Amino acid sequence: MERTLSIVKPDGVRKNILGEVIRRFQEAGIRVAAIKMIQLSKAEAEGFYAVHRERPFFGSLVDFMSSGPCVVMVLEGDGVIRRNRELMGATNPADAAPGTIRKDFAGNIEQNAVHGSDAPETAAFEISYFFNALEIH
Ligand code: GDP
Repeated sequence: MERTLSIVKPDGVRKNILGEVIRRFQEAGIRVAAIKMIQLSKAEAEGFYAVHRERPFFGSLVDFMSSGPCVVMVLEGDGVIRRNRELMGATNPADAAPGTIRKDFAGNIEQNAVHGSDAPETAAFEISYFFNALEIH
């Protein structure tokens, strides 16, 4: 059984779409194995997105991700890394397929409502960034 990290980003929490996002996961047979609401400090957002630190949008991304609370979740299911990415849609909502979370709710390429791990190695790092073993059920 595979696990991935999902985040409803600060824009998604502000838009009050948390329930709708979880509904889509559960309707797809994906199980929520852990969940909490947190507000990242700038340092914590920088650590989470460290792979992007050389990108021109890094500072703006860190400001956005620490601008309000977000909801972090561990999702579990067969092929859940890929299936969550499909439910999310493309990074830029303008390119996202109809019916995806980002197409339906994201404002722009940065404030794009949700995050999902993109590979098993990043999922392991990202899950351990937010949850210890006792918090995952
Ligand atoms: P993801 O895996 O689809 O989330 O995309 P990436 O790993 O490429 O980027 C991480 C996050 O950085 C995205 O989800 C966006 O919030 C943000 N981002 C990506 N590309 C851009 C960009 O060109 N401009 C800005 N402002 N933000 C971006």
